Amino acid sequence: MFDLFRVGFLTVTFSDILDITIVTYIMYRLYKILKGTIAAQIFIGLMIVLLLSFAAQAANFKALSWLLKLVTDIWVIAFVILFQPEIRRLLVIVARNPFFRMFVKAESPQAAQIIADAAFELSQRQHGALIIIIKSTGIRGFTETGEIMNARLSVALLGSIFFPRSPLHDGAVIVKGTTIEAARCTLPLSTTTSVNGENLGMRHRAGLGISEQADVISVIVSEETGSISVAEDGQLSKGLSKEALRNKLSKAFKNPAVKGWRGIFEHYTKEK
Ligand code: ATP
Ligand code: MG
Repeated sequence: MFDLFRVGFLTVTFSDILDITIVTYIMYRLYKILKGTIAAQIFIGLMIVLLLSFAAQAANFKALSWLLKLVTDIWVIAFVILFQPEIRRLLVIVARNPFFRMFVKAESPQAAQIIADAAFELSQRQHGALIIIIKSTGIRGFTETGEIMNARLSVALLGSIFFPRSPLHDGAVIVKGTTIEAARCTLPLSTTTSVNGENLGMRHRAGLGISEQADVISVIVSEETGSISVAEDGQLSKGLSKEALRNKLSKAFKNPAVKGWRGIFEHYTKEK
């Protein structure tokens, strides 16, 4: 590359400027994503170690740069372990990208209809229910916490699973396509405990929690009020009518939430 200018003994080329601009941008975005979390402090610590190690290398302090490199390596591993849920979440959002979606088979609209009908019946009987519909990535870890069923999805089967005296009524049912994969599954609870001033019970928090961590839609039928809620992408919509539920389900199946990289950053930088 052609030289732009020289600072003392350093020659600065066009590719150097481009290189530094890209690295600066990435660091800035990472910092914005992590700002306000404990991760930010660890990130700043890592940056300081990196700068020191760069200085040590420039000054040709071999032993010191060896030590600092060791620290950096450990730090990176610690970062991955400590922020495993955040990293997993980032990867899930990447998988939601329309490009990757092309490789995932579209769900049948039939499933949306069955689930909407079942949720409506359960809500009329005031039987509590929690139905998780897998959109793209599987959630095998959570499926395995329950009773594996691999049964054909039907309104009657969902109705009998959530019948209050059924041995399988507790916990969540996980549905993929037109198959009920498992029942009585335990899901991670969301840290959100109230929405619009209303307290959330465990069922609602579990439905919301899994939608924060995976690419799913949760349908929640309240035992107390019979109301139907849907959690998707960490957002809870309460009090849906049968029509609204069916529309939401089939829309989500047909045109999945289109999110590019911009969506990923917006997701991480928006105020919660
Ligand atoms: P409802 O409006 O139906 O009362 P709620 O949001 O108030 O719902 P709870 O009354 O706490 O929730 O409902 C408890 C039920 O939620 C349990 O019986 C169980 O079936 C389900 N549940 C609780 N925790 C979990 C979990 N971690 N994963 C899956 N299901 C759960
Ligand atoms: Mg309750």
